[in-house]
Amino acid sequence: MAQWKILITDKFTENGIEALSAAAEVEYQPGMTAGDVLASIPKFDALIVRGRTKVTADVFAAASNLKVVGRAGVGVDNIDLASAQSHHVTIVNSPTATTTAVAEHTLALMLALTKSVSRADAAMKSGRWTKKQLMGSELSGKVLGIIGLGNIGSAVAQRATALGMTVIGFDPLIADADVRNRGVDPVALDELYARADVISFHVPLNPSTRNMIDGQAIAHMKRGVYLVCTARGGVIDETALHSALESGQVAGAALDVYAQEPPGLTALVAHPNVIATPHIAAQTQEAQARASADIADEILAALRDEPLRWKIV
Ligand code: NAD
Repeated sequence: MAQWKILITDKFTENGIEALSAAAEVEYQPGMTAGDVLASIPKFDALIVRGRTKVTADVFAAASNLKVVGRAGVGVDNIDLASAQSHHVTIVNSPTATTTAVAEHTLALMLALTKSVSRADAAMKSGRWTKKQLMGSELSGKVLGIIGLGNIGSAVAQRATALGMTVIGFDPLIADADVRNRGVDPVALDELYARADVISFHVPLNPSTRNMIDGQAIAHMKRGVYLVCTARGGVIDETALHSALESGQVAGAALDVYAQEPPGLTALVAHPNVIATPHIAAQTQEAQARASADIADEILAALRDEPLRWKIV
């Protein structure tokens, strides 16, 4: 049996560890510090991370045996892709494993936001009956604007359509005909801002999307819009969002991701019209098991020089 050495530095489910252990020596060190990753990496052929471990230029420079890095999940913004390329290290992810989980969480946030679920629950738990103060709104008949119509954006569109919403979307990298095939009416960004009652973000974080939702973008939206972000912190300018919540331009926001994680009790998190969850959208048992199985397959394929399904670089 080939004696590949695989290091796993973030949480990874048992099914994935078992699959890898059949073909390689596996060291499972979830929560490993950045310093320990740097010190240990030279002896490993493969590294598996989720979003916590930062795979920096220093890690690639120290990784003399590294052939492949697997990201169990979607976003690879914690991996220095340029360094990976210059050190000839393959990067793979599991782009579809968490789609359903994140789409369902997005819908949960959208529903919770428009029905004041967390505010109602908090009042009940403090012994208050706030029936008269809490007036919700319906999603049915409303316009949902989706920015980013890849796997998750499309899955959100399908579910929102089932709730009776009209779904419009913006994605500059997908042809209009393909957007229509996903049950979404393709529109320009300005039109989306002008028409949407709820806007949900499903773009990767990169230089073109960082702070794409700033004060100017929010000013173009319908007054009283609801914003939902399960994509990445950094897509929305949090200071601008807080001001817009204060002025009423944004009626409410539901966030799973933050510019800095954990964000602590910031003014945004504490805002009464914000629902905040701690980056848990992909955290279902099913999604995590799927991500581990997919990455285990992909890592072993890379080590064996077999064709890859999800090679990023
Ligand atoms: P995907 O690659 O399938 O889709 C992303 C889409 O965004 C693509 O279609 C792309 O064309 C589009 N896009 C890129 N730049 C854009 C721009 N400027 N404007 C509009 N559209 C743009 O990815 P996905 O699986 O749908 O995931 C989307 C994002 O969700 C990921 O990049 C990740 O950051 C985030 N995510 C978060 C969690 C979580 O736990 N909260 C879990 C998984 C993924």
